[in-house]
Amino acid sequence: MKKSALVTGGAGFLGSHLCDRLLSEDYDVICMDNFFTGQKQNIAHLIGNPYFELVRHDVCHSYFCEVDEIYNLACPASPVHYQYNPVHTTKTSVHGAINMLGLAKRTHARIMQASTSEVYGDPEVHPQSESYWGKVNPIGIRSCYDEGKRCAETLFFDYWREHEVDIKVVRIFNTYGPRMHPHDGRVVSNFIVQALQGQDITIYGDGSQTRSFCFMEDLIEGFRRMMQTEKGFTGPVNIGNPGEFTMLELAEKVIQFTGSASKLVFQDLPQDDPKQRKPDISLAQEKLGGWEPKVQLDEGLQRTIDYFRTQV
Ligand code: NAD
Ligand code: UDP
Repeated sequence: MKKSALVTGGAGFLGSHLCDRLLSEDYDVICMDNFFTGQKQNIAHLIGNPYFELVRHDVCHSYFCEVDEIYNLACPASPVHYQYNPVHTTKTSVHGAINMLGLAKRTHARIMQASTSEVYGDPEVHPQSESYWGKVNPIGIRSCYDEGKRCAETLFFDYWREHEVDIKVVRIFNTYGPRMHPHDGRVVSNFIVQALQGQDITIYGDGSQTRSFCFMEDLIEGFRRMMQTEKGFTGPVNIGNPGEFTMLELAEKVIQFTGSASKLVFQDLPQDDPKQRKPDISLAQEKLGGWEPKVQLDEGLQRTIDYFRTQV
């Protein structure tokens, strides 16, 4: 019999690639999205597929369906968008987790949470492994997202301990690729769009802060492997690419690969912007069958640039 899955946030950047992957593996897929940051264009090619259903719904409100697997991705991921309505961002993570965990409890579905490297805040430990508890400002402008995601993890683990809900938690480090919204606001899409349009490239701060960038295909492979681990292996598991780059290095690569004449401009660093980020992926390598990222930054950037050339 076909397996079935619910993907919340399924019209977003990562959610839409996950829907594609699940359909290619012969799943029956329900994609739920409120279209806050998602785009119909991301899933337009799936409309008409009898095994794909699109539901406009806000995960903050309860929802019922019967599926084997739930992937809880609903939440704006870009600082610009999650800070636009911060109360709703926290509700999306917290009420959304409660609603989806309640659904998993009633239907005995396996459920995966798209958590984030933001749970580590501005980390004092480098690289970050899952055993590090993080350094998060609980009252800053990023906390609606960071603390919302931390609370969602708490709920996942309490539903596991109290109700034996079959949970999986992945902590995603900066992931990029085709289908990011051109106005998403995150660094990779910002730099590429600016370079392709010949606009100044906006470096926040002095550009010495680092991030580790994972191409979306590697992340989706990690999701699928995590979902197939044995019951009782809950995570959290870091999924990301340990290659670490400063924002200046990223800007230089984008200029080189686009052949753009754009200039760098320096703007204020946003409050609580983490200085460094790099995942320790040894747990993922051990538990997810030797999983590791295959697409390195140069190739991933070129594939993403090719996509944005068709968009802007
Ligand atoms: P995205 O903004 O493209 O996708 C989020 C999707 O969730 C959008 O389609 C949006 O419309 C939908 N959504 C938002 N609030 C909702 C609500 N209340 N109800 C229903 N749908 C809602 O971002 P993404 O990069 O695809 O991120 C997907 C998930 O992965 C998010 O949970 C994000 O926190 C997590 N994540 C992503 C990254 C990354 O680098 N891409 C890093 C860490 C965590
Ligand atoms: N950033 C930047 N210019 C931009 C957008 C972001 O220099 O136009 C910086 C941002 O300050 C941060 C890094 O790039 O240090 C990554 O930002 P992003 O919003 O992509 O993700 P996050 O901070 O959540 O890792």
